[in-house]
Amino acid sequence: MIVLEVGYNFQFRSHPELVQTEFVTRDGVRDLVQVCRAHGARVIPQFNCLGHQSWRHTLYPLLTEYRELEEPPDDAPDQRWTGGRSWCPLHPQVNEIVFALMDELIEAFDADAFHVGMDEVLVIAGRKCPRCRDRTPAEVFARAVNDYHRHLVEEKKLTMLMWGARRDATERILGHLSTTWVLEPGGFARALLGEQDSLLVSPRARDAAAACRAALAEPLR
Ligand SMILES: [Zn+2]
Repeated sequence: MIVLEVGYNFQFRSHPELVQTEFVTRDGVRDLVQVCRAHGARVIPQFNCLGHQSWRHTLYPLLTEYRELEEPPDDAPDQRWTGGRSWCPLHPQVNEIVFALMDELIEAFDADAFHVGMDEVLVIAGRKCPRCRDRTPAEVFARAVNDYHRHLVEEKKLTMLMWGARRDATERILGHLSTTWVLEPGGFARALLGEQDSLLVSPRARDAAAACRAALAEPLR
């Protein structure tokens, strides 16, 4: 099973204003899914929901185009929030937009499952947010999880995935994902196949492949 973090790097028709500079086309997705299926791999699209709406001072398209959807951060002396702004899950307009993006990805990937991300939500239930300030982070987070579950599982009949801390694994966890976070094209796959050309395989790809191999060799007990 391969989970692809797509985010805003897709040729969205419903919201072309939210397409990032580099994006994959519908034909590109179709070809990729065909190749994966031909090799027995299930492909699941991922769209980071709630958090991770920015990275290293770059604000992603949703909050750039719709400033009113941002969860206002509390004053944070360490400015950590600059790496992970959030949308406000209680804003009355946010789900209409996000669900349209989800639906397009589901269709393009012909997906039977969807990964909503939701790790590292650093800004949530902000004290400056008129909708969230009287609620706990847990309440706001649970509201978001249930909203996405209602759309993806109850309405679309898909399986919904989200990140969890392994550290808190219970007997109910069915498996795990190995993450790569490798940017160069094909670098992780090359490393996994044992290639060592430093021009094509970065140290990060090599380390990610080693971790993946170890995880495959020793599944959850
Ligand atoms: Zn809010």
